[in-house]
Amino acid sequence: MRFQPKASHFIDGQYVESAGGEAIRVLYPATGETIARLHAATPDVVEKALQSAMAAQKEWGAMTGTERGRVLRRAADILRARNYDLSELETHDTGKPIQETLVADVSSGADALEYFGGLAASLTGEYIPLANGDFAYTIPEPLGVCVGIGAWNYPIQIACSKAAPALACGNAMIFKPSETTPLSALKLAEALVEAGAPKGVFNVVQGYGDVGAALVADRRVAKVSLTGSVPTGRKVYAAAAEGMKHVTMELGGKSPLIVFDDADLENSVSGAIIGNFFSSGQVCSNGTRVFVQKRIKTAFLERLSSRLDSAKIGDPMDPEVNFGPLVSERQVEIVKAYIAKGLAEGARLVYGGFQLDRPGFYLQPTVFADVTDKMTIAREEIFGPVMSVLEFETEEEVIARANATEFGLAAGVFTRDLTRAHRVAKGFEAGTCYINTYNLAPVEAPFGGSKLSGVGRENSKLALHHYTEMKTIYVSMNELRAPY
Ligand code: NDP
Repeated sequence: MRFQPKASHFIDGQYVESAGGEAIRVLYPATGETIARLHAATPDVVEKALQSAMAAQKEWGAMTGTERGRVLRRAADILRARNYDLSELETHDTGKPIQETLVADVSSGADALEYFGGLAASLTGEYIPLANGDFAYTIPEPLGVCVGIGAWNYPIQIACSKAAPALACGNAMIFKPSETTPLSALKLAEALVEAGAPKGVFNVVQGYGDVGAALVADRRVAKVSLTGSVPTGRKVYAAAAEGMKHVTMELGGKSPLIVFDDADLENSVSGAIIGNFFSSGQVCSNGTRVFVQKRIKTAFLERLSSRLDSAKIGDPMDPEVNFGPLVSERQVEIVKAYIAKGLAEGARLVYGGFQLDRPGFYLQPTVFADVTDKMTIAREEIFGPVMSVLEFETEEEVIARANATEFGLAAGVFTRDLTRAHRVAKGFEAGTCYINTYNLAPVEAPFGGSKLSGVGRENSKLALHHYTEMKTIYVSMNELRAPY
């Protein structure tokens, strides 16, 4: 098997096997073929990863930010030099078209390594002058061993978004990929060692939820960063709270995308396509509730359908294909159940709706119109290629409806009215908002959710605060008097 790694885990600078661990079969979503066989970590493998990370963190944390930054930037160069091979691997692991993985996955991971590598040397404390010549100063210290747990939609990007700020600040990380897409994190671990990171600074252990849970519960772990669903986030947050650990939670969403009747129609249809069908709809920040103002609803739906007719669905390794399979049979079943619910609850199917009659896990891009706020498809995260179009009349009404959700990951607005665009963006209850575009997540800007969609932010300088603890040192310049 071409994509079979040397062994399941990467610990202390080398591949490690756990033949006794539960089997993990990795499938190519486009055909259902097995592309690799791995094993979940057994308790002794988890222990090995923890011990190696503890030891490596001491060495890594003692290096200067400049030295650590150099390693991260070299790792970024290594990923970029291997972009094609890694993208091919990512396409086989996730089923996403090579057209996407070549530009969005490895490269954004490399961006994170480069960005946080560049910031590593700038991490400093401050001098605080106090009364009578006393002063205090602060030192941003690494937390220690951090655990990263990933979802299956952007495997290498998620691994890099967590590893890069963690390592820049002098922490070590143990990363557990989703068992559905376990392969590319191993390549990141290889690249970091090649770039000069001490062995053990970034370890990868494979496994199901129980392996993630064992890592989260371990008292030697100082921080957990999870990308996953809200139900998993609740469990992981609660387990981390037991040990008063730091957390970053990048969770699910049901984001609104509002199209006013003065918007550029082509741009807003593009926004709805990008915000619903990229990666076959398996994107956390997708704007799956598309609110379209009444006057342009028919024109919007017609243009959307005709644009969707030109989507090229097929073999994700074909560079012309721009719509691939979903990640797994299970995900197809989940999404089909939501489509059935949409129909049963009275939504009008205007595009797609069916599984393709071919091997692999393919579903058509699907659009429902006449969706109401109470329908299940308008309330729950589907995580597949299903767009709900809802009609609205006034700005006030649509803002209230857009915010009437327990999620708060992202939100978007399309309009030509400049002041309205900013007013609406300000009114959104969401962490990441867009005006006349959608779903961009450059490393320079904070990304993350409010309400049930998460805690903390990834990307940007803010991420550094989530991987350091501030130590304050008070210095007296005066004679010390006690009352007795
Ligand atoms: P899951 O929540 O099912 O799993 C996420 C990860 O957590 C997996 O590695 C999983 O392992 C692990 N896990 C499961 N249970 C536990 C536990 N008790 N303790 C520790 N770890 C555990 O999410 P999916 O993989 O299905 O990914 C889809 C979800 O991720 C969607 O809700 C999506 O919105 C969200 N997401 C959020 C993003 C964001 O940045 N906000 C970005 C991308 C996705 P295993 O797979 O073996 O169960």
